[in-house]
Amino acid sequence: MDALALQQLCERVRSFIDECVIPREDMSRAHDIGWLDATTKELRAEADRRGLAVPQLAPRLGGLGLNWVSCVDVFAQAGRSFLGAGALGCAAPDQPNIDTLLQIATPAQQRRWLDPLIAGRVRSAFAMTEPAPGVGSDPRMIQTRARRGRGPGGEPGWILDGHKWFSSGAVGAAFALVVVRADEGPSWFVVDADNPGWQLQRSVASIDPFAYGGHGEVVLRDCFVAEDALLGELGQGLVYAQLRLEGARLFHCMRGLGLAARAMDFAHDYVLKRESFGARLSEHQQVQAMVADSQIDLYSARLVTTDVALRLDRGDSIRHESSMAKVFVSEALCRIADRAAQLTGALGMSDDAPIAMINRKLRPFRIYDGASEVHRAAIGKRALMRTNLDNTR
Ligand SMILES: Cc1cc2nc3c(=O)[nH]c(=O)nc-3n(C[C@H](O)[C@H](O)[C@H](O)COP(=O)(O)OP(=O)(O)OC[C@H]3O[C@@H](n4cnc5c(N)ncnc54)[C@H](O)[C@@H]3O)c2cc1C
Repeated sequence: MDALALQQLCERVRSFIDECVIPREDMSRAHDIGWLDATTKELRAEADRRGLAVPQLAPRLGGLGLNWVSCVDVFAQAGRSFLGAGALGCAAPDQPNIDTLLQIATPAQQRRWLDPLIAGRVRSAFAMTEPAPGVGSDPRMIQTRARRGRGPGGEPGWILDGHKWFSSGAVGAAFALVVVRADEGPSWFVVDADNPGWQLQRSVASIDPFAYGGHGEVVLRDCFVAEDALLGELGQGLVYAQLRLEGARLFHCMRGLGLAARAMDFAHDYVLKRESFGARLSEHQQVQAMVADSQIDLYSARLVTTDVALRLDRGDSIRHESSMAKVFVSEALCRIADRAAQLTGALGMSDDAPIAMINRKLRPFRIYDGASEVHRAAIGKRALMRTNLDNTR
């Protein structure tokens, strides 16, 4: 897509978000999963009508075939609203689940699970994390087991047993991608939500509002799945997780850029109008310094995100760079949201403005897809061990 076409697309997404999506935000429904599903369905239908849905996918899949760099601007526009990514069919966990299914599912699995997901007819969940002492930051700690077994009719398959939590999307999902441990090592399975062995206990009440399908706590008990529920190869689960996370992290960065930009715009409007000590807030130097720091953070975060997107478009390996981007961008966006809260005083603490909600949406980004500390440990190790690392490039 050339620069002009991309600019026009961004303007169309911006209009859609401003005219149709932001007006539907209702802070009092932040944790109402049913309301979120119903609202998203209507907004997705409008996005389909305007030809804006699933823009990251190839045209043969109904998308616009955007490359990674083009996605930065488009996803940032969509990300300005809490409901934007869902409206465009590119919210987590469906968007990274779509990526995973495109990469490792067989054609038959894609027809069964991927096609309805792309069309927005169903939602999905992703279940890797377990409560302590199971897997969290350390992917080697998976405790949920998969063993070979037989179904009620004697058919061969797998029996899964374990305990997951923070399975985003689980309430109302049609199926989940589940990471478990088989004898061969970590492996991925698809579990349909109507499987009697997939027992959704609750949606964990969390800081994270407007989360599609909430964050489920699920027990897998004698959960039989047929052989065709195995995704990819046995024992390759951590390789697939790494692949998934590299793209997923970057999409989180893109969506977060939009949220942070919105927080800044709101704070700018506020300080330009509000007065204290005989002057507009915007005339106080400490206020100007906060505005400047946020401007620098947003600019840098966008550059870092765009650089990793460029590398992905070139087909480079981005393991190291995507880790650095995840740490820098998540922390920069949280700083911006925090300053916007400071600049807008009591209003920024209330649900009369989007600032409080933006802070709640952005804060978990420093934890999911790898906590900052875990990335820093890996970045430091790689930097010290890689003899051919060229820090001038
Ligand atoms: C909003 C949200 C959505 C999520 N969605 C999903 C989902 O869809 N599916 C899913 O499977 N999981 C999901 N998660 C879970 C997420 O992946 C985990 O929270 C994350 O992997 C960290 O694991 P943990 O919470 O068990 O933290 P722990 O592993 O207990 O770590 C706690 C803290 O310890 C510190 N720490 C850990 N290791 C190190 C280290 N090596 N060096 C220094 N410090 C360290 C870090 O500060 C870390 O934040 C989600 C989480 C959130 C908050």
